[in-house]
Amino acid sequence: MARESEFIAYMEAFEASTTHVGACTACQNDQPCTAGQPIHAEFIARQNTWTKRLRDERKQP
Ligand SMILES: [Zn+2]
Repeated sequence: MARESEFIAYMEAFEASTTHVGACTACQNDQPCTAGQPIHAEFIARQNTWTKRLRDERKQP
């Protein structure tokens, strides 16, 4: 995936996760609901991908 696409996917996943938490009492209490779990998992996966890319880029000379 292209660098920009990874960042956009990360931002979209972040927004989806934040929006869901804002409207979901269970997820606000750290007890992710069935609907929220895949949304939060997606956000964490995208975040990990992006963080890894930044880390890899810093290793470049
Ligand atoms: Zn939820």
